[in-house]
Amino acid sequence: MSERTYKTDALILSSRPLGEADRLVDLLTWEKGKITAVARGARKVKSRLAAGVDLFTYGYYQLHRGRSLDLITGQEVREHFTAFREDVALYPYGLFLAEITGRLVSTEEPAPEPCSLLLKGWRLLCDGSLKERMLFCHAFELKLMDLTGFCPHLKGCLICGTPESLYFSSRQGGLLCRKCAGGDVVKLGAGTVALARRLLEAPLERVKVLRPHALQMRELAGMAASFRRYHHDIGELRSLRLISFLSPGE
Ligand SMILES: [Zn+2]
Repeated sequence: MSERTYKTDALILSSRPLGEADRLVDLLTWEKGKITAVARGARKVKSRLAAGVDLFTYGYYQLHRGRSLDLITGQEVREHFTAFREDVALYPYGLFLAEITGRLVSTEEPAPEPCSLLLKGWRLLCDGSLKERMLFCHAFELKLMDLTGFCPHLKGCLICGTPESLYFSSRQGGLLCRKCAGGDVVKLGAGTVALARRLLEAPLERVKVLRPHALQMRELAGMAASFRRYHHDIGELRSLRLISFLSPGE
């Protein structure tokens, strides 16, 4: 094996056609964070790469370091999350996890925790027992923001520490009490604040026991969208457009 060749476990975050027969693939790797690589010939019927470079694949990959982009030269599929392809209603939630991970994880830095979180997230979504899929996505996003460095402050007022703090400011980075709140805040219900904290702190597999009200879901979605835009420069996501198209309530 040449020294420009390396092997890594990875999850496929996106895979799009490139030129006549290739694919341009974003991989989330345990050791090197996010990598964009080319899978040459992967769209040819007989390609040995074809089966392993689709979105929603977990595999073991061999890559060759290139001048600008690395090349995928071999793969071994560990897990295919086929439920996302078979169930149209499930697909955008799996896509949301991939999209938000692709935006929050940086390149060239080890990302073992985001990798484990995404793998667990895809498995839980695919096992079919989850009723509140959008709530699950909010929990995933909060946890990922926490792992990657910048998450909304949800434990009391971020200035004075008062526990009863229901005013949310994206610009200031989280919750504020009535006294500290300035002009750019949104007032949230106490139930929404308690729920958001629980989503951040409870293990991902516990989200399925939570039953939020419609108002709490609206407030969570508003909070997430504004924080995402302000701190992570993430505007519209294709997954969220699909979700609101397929399930207008969410
Ligand atoms: Zn305060």
